[in-house]
Amino acid sequence: MDTQMLIGSKFERGTETEEAILNPRSGETILSLPEASPAQIEAAVAAAEKAFVTWSKTTPAQRSGYLLKIADRIEAEAEGFARLEALNCGKPINAVLNDEIPAIVDCYRFFAGAVRSMPGLVAGEYLPGHTSMIRRDPVGIVASIAPWNYPLMMMAWKLAPAIAGGNTVVFKPSEQTPLTALKLARILAEVLPEGVVNVVLGRGESVGNALINHAAVSMISITGDVATGKKVLQAAAKSVKRTHLELGGKAPVIVFDDADIDAVVSGLRAFGYYNAGQDCTAACRIYAGKKVYDKLVADLSSAVSTIRYGQADDTENEIGPLISRRQRDRVASFVERASELKHIEITTGGKPGEGGGFYYQPTVVAGALQEDEIVRREVFGPVVSVTRFSDVDEAVNWANDSDYGLASSVWTKDISRGMATAARLQYGCTWINTHFMLTNEMPHGGLKQSGYGKDMSVYALEDYTAVRHVMIAHG
Ligand code: NAD
Repeated sequence: MDTQMLIGSKFERGTETEEAILNPRSGETILSLPEASPAQIEAAVAAAEKAFVTWSKTTPAQRSGYLLKIADRIEAEAEGFARLEALNCGKPINAVLNDEIPAIVDCYRFFAGAVRSMPGLVAGEYLPGHTSMIRRDPVGIVASIAPWNYPLMMMAWKLAPAIAGGNTVVFKPSEQTPLTALKLARILAEVLPEGVVNVVLGRGESVGNALINHAAVSMISITGDVATGKKVLQAAAKSVKRTHLELGGKAPVIVFDDADIDAVVSGLRAFGYYNAGQDCTAACRIYAGKKVYDKLVADLSSAVSTIRYGQADDTENEIGPLISRRQRDRVASFVERASELKHIEITTGGKPGEGGGFYYQPTVVAGALQEDEIVRREVFGPVVSVTRFSDVDEAVNWANDSDYGLASSVWTKDISRGMATAARLQYGCTWINTHFMLTNEMPHGGLKQSGYGKDMSVYALEDYTAVRHVMIAHG
């Protein structure tokens, strides 16, 4: 197992506070890793600064070649990456191997292609005797900070567009899930020129805080909690750094009376509970039409009660545990508070799982009202609430009545109604008759307090590059 950080071309252990890295399936410690010292953080930023001088001058084709090599190496070591991610996050091995790794490999390949054909305004004489042209240049040194829910995928979403755009990066994985980042660091050191990507370990309040406040950092890219995003904005304000924020979500799902209920139920069983609900797009806030509400609650509850988890043979598992005891207890406390309300019924689940792992039963909270905490706050666990609505305006108003604005879905057989409703939703993404599906060609990102950074797609390349105007006076 790789345990060393990547600083320039050197592999080093941190020298500061040790963090226990846990196996969420058992609660046992896998190993402890020390975080980076202030001197090591300085060295990582200095290495990125030095590398920027030459990396920022490489051609798109050259950078594309590097990205393709990274993709090939991850693909060649897919099993090893998947095993490590499953160990560190408690994810079912098949979910990592069959869902995440192919999407991660494709992310590097997508940006390898996209950077070679970036769009822009045409050059021309917008003032007589002057030719204008648009450039898209790198921003500089990017501090990239990732969460624990999809460690290797978040790393891909951040690194691929950043380095494709000619930037250099100091990357910090979540202190809870650094293992695949350390494995990838070995590959990055072999494939990339020295210092283009540096990987440092540590907690947000220490190492993360040092990175977001560093004078040489030009851009901060973070996926995490809204509260963390606000701290990033405060830090960025001091020197007006560019920010790329991907924060939380609380995805509404509007199910009209004419929806195909079997499709809705199988969709929600998958998309409400994938990754044990630790997903900012999880289909967790259901609004069901009044005619379909009772059937939906009954069928969903029975479908959710069959979700397989906690089996000794991991290939049998559909979902894993929560990332930590703290996260499991947080999820449990949301459900406990909800269940104390008279109008709420927990129709399946509602308890922590058995054993030493951080499991929580897949749960349906029926009868929830718009003002209930379980409808309003991000639970980030395998918990879905169902609320009855009476007409489309009520459904749309409730769906939009949220601090978050990342993802949403609408389920109906009437495509006109689906399109009209999608147009009214204030979310970065609206799916119609599905949920959760992502593709590297399309952007992922939010509105409101979900942040405004776009991951994946050419829009991410826009975020990680600066538009510049060059004008030539020629008479
Ligand atoms: P978190 O905000 O606690 O941590 C995210 C990262 O930020 C970690 O690497 C952490 O060390 C770092 N960090 C924390 N405080 C910091 C500080 N003061 N300065 C610099 N860095 C700091 O979030 P988490 O608990 O790891 O992840 C879960 C959250 O992420 C959820 O709220 C979830 O909705 C959100 N999320 C959002 C998206 C999205 O695309 N919008 C995707 C995945 C997760």
